[in-house]
Amino acid sequence: MTVTKDQPMTYAKMRGLVSLFSALLKGKKVAFSDFLHKFVSSQKLSQQPDTQKTLQQRSRLRREEEEEEEEKGTVSSANTKTSQMKPSDFDYLKVIGKGSFGKVLLARHRKRGGYYAVKVLQKHMIVKRNEQKHVMVERSVLLKGLQHPFLVGLHFSFQTPNMLYFVLDYVNGGELFYHLQREGSFPEPRAAFYAAEMAMALGYLHSLDIVYRDLKPENILLDSEGHVMLTDFGLCKEGVATGGIMHTFCGTPEYLAPEVLQGQPYSPVVDWWGLGTVLFEMLYGLPPFYSHSKAEMFENILNAPLQLRNGASQAARSLLEGLLQRDVSRRLGGSLDFVELQEHPFFASINWDDLLARKVRPPFIPKVTGACDVSYIDPEFTIQPVPASVNDRCQTGATSEAFPGFSFMNPMEYVAAEPVS
Ligand code: ATP
Ligand code: MG
Repeated sequence: MTVTKDQPMTYAKMRGLVSLFSALLKGKKVAFSDFLHKFVSSQKLSQQPDTQKTLQQRSRLRREEEEEEEEKGTVSSANTKTSQMKPSDFDYLKVIGKGSFGKVLLARHRKRGGYYAVKVLQKHMIVKRNEQKHVMVERSVLLKGLQHPFLVGLHFSFQTPNMLYFVLDYVNGGELFYHLQREGSFPEPRAAFYAAEMAMALGYLHSLDIVYRDLKPENILLDSEGHVMLTDFGLCKEGVATGGIMHTFCGTPEYLAPEVLQGQPYSPVVDWWGLGTVLFEMLYGLPPFYSHSKAEMFENILNAPLQLRNGASQAARSLLEGLLQRDVSRRLGGSLDFVELQEHPFFASINWDDLLARKVRPPFIPKVTGACDVSYIDPEFTIQPVPASVNDRCQTGATSEAFPGFSFMNPMEYVAAEPVS
């Protein structure tokens, strides 16, 4: 069914559709992961507010330092501050998510006591699907010295002969989708807050020649204070040389930009389409062009007129029209990237500097009791037993040919880790 202007939706209908949609999403998540892939380029540097610029400069500086060290032959950048971590350094407490190649677990570092989300990937699954590059992209993206208030941070990565481990910040306010499902839709100021934080994170990634490409509600988490955190860099397209745009076809259809569906070259503007789909869903409760028939949805994304029902403000509609513009040359963000969004009237009430400094009070504050609270995590995961295999007893260090240099320790952690080793 396609939501149209002529079919006003009752709240109950909307909830029913959302549940149906959620079930479909869960069912298809793994199937669509088969389409994964990589690399795109953007030479466009977005103009950012000063603070955003500082973050970029810091990241660039760190990368340059690593490259310099690598050139000198002193260290390999991939192995800079190699992690000495091993699976048994953690107690695995709960399953909190499921990815294409393994699980995400809440874990506690035995010596330090801190809580982390540990994403455990099975190497044989990755090799079977020939996804080594994709995983190394995730790692290298996380390694790029990414540091942004609305992006999940990587503390360590390490490997055993069978598994790869990403040790990430544990973000425990729940998936945005979880909250959206419970409430049906968000009032505009709440949607504007989340969209603005996402836009900042995306603009930051673009400025580092990274296309996120996989913006969808399940990859958008809320932290314990209610700020947005983008996770899942598995599908990020890391920038390559000029003109390195590649054709790729991947993702969950609801959120796919038409140019991706058509196998055309794509660029960072795909993320502005993605933001449009998420904003639409926040305001209307369903993604744009939605149909339970996948074929129809593909067709709708490519050809159906965008239907914006009453209920959203003029500014919201104009932003959605700008973002969900099929002609990439006319899409909002197409020339000046994030700056074009910043100036849009829908965000008129946003003070971008305050937002970046996390000084803007989030519209919803999750009720979490502490760093290990799992009450916003779907019980579908938390009731699952922690698989014994995550505590792979094999020693670290026996690296696999397919994942050389995977193990990593965030330089910040290197200093912090010394006293406990
Ligand atoms: P990939 O496409 O790289 O295989 P994935 O989609 O399979 O990734 P993720 O999105 O990284 O895997 O993780 C799966 C789920 O686990 C997420 O949707 C989220 O609910 C949960 N999750 C991931 N990272 C974190 C985190 N840092 N804190 C809390 N929950 C997380
Ligand atoms: Mg994901």
